[in-house]
Amino acid sequence: MAEKTVGEKLKEELFLKKENPLKNISDEKWEKVTAFAQDYKAFLAKAKTEREAVKVSIEIAEKAGFKPFDAAKKYVVGDKYYVNNRGKSIAFVVVGKQPADSGLQITAAHIDSPRMDLKPNPLYEDSDLALFKTHYYGGIKKYQWTTIPLALHGVFAKKDGSVVEVNIGEDDSDPCFVVTDLLPHLAQEQSKRTLNDGIRGEELNILIGSLPFKDDKASELVKLNILKILNEKYGVTEADFLSAELEVVPAVKPRDIGLDRSLIGAYGHDDRVCAYPALAAICEIEVPEKTALCVLADKEETGSDGNTGLASDFLRFVVRDLAEMQGVDYTVALRNSKCLSADVNAGLDPTFKDVMEAKNAAKLNYGAVITKYTGARGKSDTSDASAEYVAYVRNMLDSAGITWQTGELGRVDLGGGGTVALYVANMGVDVVDLGVPVLSMHAPFEVVSKFDVYETYRTMLEFCK
Ligand code: MN
Ligand code: MN
Repeated sequence: MAEKTVGEKLKEELFLKKENPLKNISDEKWEKVTAFAQDYKAFLAKAKTEREAVKVSIEIAEKAGFKPFDAAKKYVVGDKYYVNNRGKSIAFVVVGKQPADSGLQITAAHIDSPRMDLKPNPLYEDSDLALFKTHYYGGIKKYQWTTIPLALHGVFAKKDGSVVEVNIGEDDSDPCFVVTDLLPHLAQEQSKRTLNDGIRGEELNILIGSLPFKDDKASELVKLNILKILNEKYGVTEADFLSAELEVVPAVKPRDIGLDRSLIGAYGHDDRVCAYPALAAICEIEVPEKTALCVLADKEETGSDGNTGLASDFLRFVVRDLAEMQGVDYTVALRNSKCLSADVNAGLDPTFKDVMEAKNAAKLNYGAVITKYTGARGKSDTSDASAEYVAYVRNMLDSAGITWQTGELGRVDLGGGGTVALYVANMGVDVVDLGVPVLSMHAPFEVVSKFDVYETYRTMLEFCK
């Protein structure tokens, strides 16, 4: 081989390297990547809503030694507990060697995903068919949610205080549901609508049945028959929908994508693809130097408001409880804390490259993405991590040999978005977004790379150990 020129050597030294990290990946490493992907897919299949994600996370964490938080208990170094916030968000804590006021290492991901929620009065009959009215949750392209199999997950909360769980459409023997769309033959007028308006919010109606109850006199017999089925199965009447949270999600299972099986297609990668690595990491550590805290939040997709979202005081109170127990000031604990806001970013899609600015776009298989700022326009609605904190994270990643890249949420002024980062930053914590690049984000079937998921897991582990 010819010797390198001075220019070539200098370039190697000074330029940022941007080679495909998988070019020389070892078989041994790839095995670890695919094994982790299997575990992740299994989690994903069972955790399609925030409530289910909390439940499955607790199962995993209890096996690793976590116990429910007990305010009367005095926790010591190495103790592991979790604080369950109404079954919809949760914080896992491993008490570190140093007291809380030296700062915590916090990982924050969200476990809610875009979907369709049933309205309080959802059930109706029209043209001898029974349907549910919905209100979409989070940012969706509505046309994507028609003509795909759908499942119904959630709860009926009854007046007597009991809660009945619903999960229909996931088992192969279950029925599923669908939002119908117009046939192309009769879509001339619909086709003139803009893409955004192609399917309207009030057109996201779920088809749930067609058989009438057998009776000569009563009306709305198809609706009646559906209520009879629900009453027999769950003991509910139409009024119980008023105090229910029923979520309609794609009835699709996580699948490998590609002949080389390098990618995963699934519903709800955003943000379980970061929540699972963060959970797996905190379940693996034993006695961390600083207290490790992993919070899995609800309501991120609607702006983090509400008592299970991260704009609430939930996280602050978890830190305060620990600090008070240790007799230290929780505001100092927060000020000295570091956080990875573990959330996804947009991956560069070869079909839609022009929404990205190539030099700053994240690519699939290039590892965990650091996103210094999200937001919109002139960096509105973002915490914009400090250079010093990004340097800390960059050094941690390089020292551990983790593959990572940087990303931004599309070209300047094209759109934008946010994460939980600013809510944690507003408590005085140092925060930066770090997570997995996704294709078709917020669609019923999103795509991620197995390698990126694994490197994100390694990041979470390095950060909290
Ligand atoms: Mn997200
Ligand atoms: Mn999202």
